[in-house]
Amino acid sequence: MSAIELREVREALRRRLRELDAVRATCEHCEHFTNPPTCAKFEAVPPPEFRRVEGACEHWRFDGIPF
Ligand code: SF4
Repeated sequence: MSAIELREVREALRRRLRELDAVRATCEHCEHFTNPPTCAKFEAVPPPEFRRVEGACEHWRFDGIPF
């Protein structure tokens, strides 16, 4: 690896980390939450306090689109 490649890999990883840090494992960033406030997986409205707790749902999935 050259010094240039090292710098490019570091910057690519930093960019990716910034993207991932912007994602929260809550309903708002779940691929099943395309029609808020209803969860498509369970066809129900998750309670607000549940929706805000990161990692609360084992069925949470992220589609890679951070909005
Ligand atoms: S699957 Fe879980 S995290 Fe995703 S929207 Fe439904 S309740 Fe929320």
